[in-house]
Amino acid sequence: MTTRNSTPIPARIARVRETLAGWGVSALLVNSPDNRRWLSGFTGSAGWLLVTPDQALLATDFRYWDQAQAQAPDFTLFRLKQEQKVTDMLATIAPTSVAVEANHLTLHGFKDLQKVDGIEWKPLEQTVEPFRMVKSPAEVAQIRAAAAITDRVMSSVPALARPGQPEKELAWLLEKSLRKNGATGMAFPVIVASGPNAALPHHRPGDRALQEGDTIVVDMGAALDGYNSDLTRTFYLGEEPPQRFWDIYNLTLSAQTAALGGMKAGMTGREIDALARDVIASAGHADHFGHGLGHGVGLAIHEDPRLSTRAENDVIPAGAITTVEPGVYLTGWGGVRLEDLVLVTADGIERLSHCPKEPLIAVAATNHQPPTTN
Ligand code: ZN
Ligand code: ZN
Repeated sequence: MTTRNSTPIPARIARVRETLAGWGVSALLVNSPDNRRWLSGFTGSAGWLLVTPDQALLATDFRYWDQAQAQAPDFTLFRLKQEQKVTDMLATIAPTSVAVEANHLTLHGFKDLQKVDGIEWKPLEQTVEPFRMVKSPAEVAQIRAAAAITDRVMSSVPALARPGQPEKELAWLLEKSLRKNGATGMAFPVIVASGPNAALPHHRPGDRALQEGDTIVVDMGAALDGYNSDLTRTFYLGEEPPQRFWDIYNLTLSAQTAALGGMKAGMTGREIDALARDVIASAGHADHFGHGLGHGVGLAIHEDPRLSTRAENDVIPAGAITTVEPGVYLTGWGGVRLEDLVLVTADGIERLSHCPKEPLIAVAATNHQPPTTN
């Protein structure tokens, strides 16, 4: 629950108003859930925000009325009756030009809006997304709490994983454990990728049974009241991995260590990405690290800023929360990825992930575990 004086909402509305001219419009219409929540505090799943130089309106219906009143005190509520659409609210305000979210509005919804006379529409690929990069202290606290849940559950992987266990069973145990430890949902479906499947960065856990000698990539995140965390660890099922495992594991770890030690606010996403990418490339594995180094995490699991080769113009601000997740993937063999969550500061980072990086899972200890019954 939010109250008028304890939230940054008025400052966020002010920021939109300051930017309207830059967007070349007299109002902004927001319908995507994350942007709507960030800008108003309203967490309901349906509603429209309209911000003009002198008004801030939230249109929603009967189902969310009480909730909207409690959560969005900085917005004037417009009650949509059953047969009404957001166009009815727009008709009462009559702005001359309105920016809409091109990446979130449906084509059908846009055609509906265009039925309102006298409004010039401006679809924008981004509206408040860049503002969301810098997290408020309350947002940092929420993501820190989500990261702590994920740390705790990831630390239990060596106790839960055992030979003969299908990937999807381990994924389900981890999902239950995230819930038991306080998660209100999953940031994304838990990834368990074993053996050759570990070469697929976004493998969906399936029927493949874990076996001694497997590399196992586990990637998961807790959602906690709308905010997310993201964490990857790579394990080896057994106590004596082949040299190749250590080569790839230690290479990935040194790439991550280089990025964590060298990144700070003011660098571009590309410069930070290069801290890790150069380490991997100099070991001859440039082609085996086929994704960006990291992404912002907040209300969305993937948001700005991006740490990647394409982010040469994206300066990373202090207060951004990003992942740092280099990986090396070898088709047919498997892969290693290590992912931590960090808060970017003026002179470096603060780590939000604290789960140890100890990959070995002793098979002797896991062999005698009784099958899970719940
Ligand atoms: Zn992840
Ligand atoms: Zn990630």
